[in-house]
Amino acid sequence: MTSVQDRFLKYVSFDTQSDEFSETCPSTDKQKLLGAALVEEMLDMGIADAHMDEHGYIYGTVPGDPRLPTIGLIAHMDTAPDCSGTDIRARVVEYRGGDVCLNEEKDIYLRESDYPSLKNHHGKRLIVTDGTTLLGADDKAGIAEIMTAAEILMTRRMTHATLKIGFTPDEEIGRGADRFDVKGFGADFAYTSDGGAIGEIEYENFNAAGAKVEFFGLNIHPGSAKDKMVNSQYIAMEYQSLLPAAQKPEHTEGYEGFIHLTDMEGEVEKSVLRYIIRDHDIDKFLQKKALMVAAADFINRKYGEGTCMLTLRDSYFNMKQCIEPVMHIVERAKNAMRAAGMDPREVPIRGGTDGARLSYEGLPCPNLCTGGENYHGRFEYIPVEDMERCVEMLVNILT
Ligand SMILES: [Zn+2]
Repeated sequence: MTSVQDRFLKYVSFDTQSDEFSETCPSTDKQKLLGAALVEEMLDMGIADAHMDEHGYIYGTVPGDPRLPTIGLIAHMDTAPDCSGTDIRARVVEYRGGDVCLNEEKDIYLRESDYPSLKNHHGKRLIVTDGTTLLGADDKAGIAEIMTAAEILMTRRMTHATLKIGFTPDEEIGRGADRFDVKGFGADFAYTSDGGAIGEIEYENFNAAGAKVEFFGLNIHPGSAKDKMVNSQYIAMEYQSLLPAAQKPEHTEGYEGFIHLTDMEGEVEKSVLRYIIRDHDIDKFLQKKALMVAAADFINRKYGEGTCMLTLRDSYFNMKQCIEPVMHIVERAKNAMRAAGMDPREVPIRGGTDGARLSYEGLPCPNLCTGGENYHGRFEYIPVEDMERCVEMLVNILT
């Protein structure tokens, strides 16, 4: 048996950063190197059908009792483009409280005052970075836990459900579900192992849309501009001022949605504002979109038709409505958590997951904890003991 810690340390040694500007799938070829290593390991373990498809997705089956449901476990191989994933120097520290020196030379510390979650991990072994890269627990912890659970199912003699394993590329750039073969996967339901602190289970995510708002003005020499110039930048600012000031990410939490200005560009003739719109509640989500339409109409009435052009595009929807008819899969996960010594907590995701899209494609797919903390940054860490509990939870789900 290979320990979950050893697996994890091996997987994070692969640089698998995805690239949102790439058009290929996977977005970066290097993700296939980890994929090939995973297939080899699965074959060695005895997962006879393990393979990588032409898009870099990994699939494999651990056959179980055909009378039980077929259950999928899914994790992603890429790491976030937000932070370097090259030359990750992970190491294990015995944590006894206080601050952890990550990098003596560069004077980088993981401080308990900055990251209060450390208080939950006194006495555990933490895997940390050297403070210059992310760790990649998001989501290599998920992969290591699924692989370890699969090995346990195959070596211990116990009755278990058939396990379908799926490892995807490019989740961090929103494409992990794009080429996922739901039909070929053949699971009745599945879980993504892509969450945070132990005990968390997520099956509610945002409804999400993107908006591009273009403003058209008229440029003329400023010396002779009187009554002629129309400065699209001022109109863009006026548009922004029509949106609710409090409904911004920096002022919202929990189930509160937002309209977020992600970027802007402008000159006199033309300005563009880009937004993302998020809300768990479908009615409030529709209201936010309606508000953006009303603001555009107001601008066009005031300055003339064609001054403002709004393009709205839905990105993904809250998986809750797909999960509610099959709440037994949430109960199964919560029971599995309790049996692994965790205290289950339902947490609304303030984002989306591949599971949300898969749920809408007919594969109900809540998200489970992996134990990691501080994702997408240099202070990412994961306690080994929590990974071990997550392995236990996954085995319990299958048995
Ligand atoms: Zn992730």
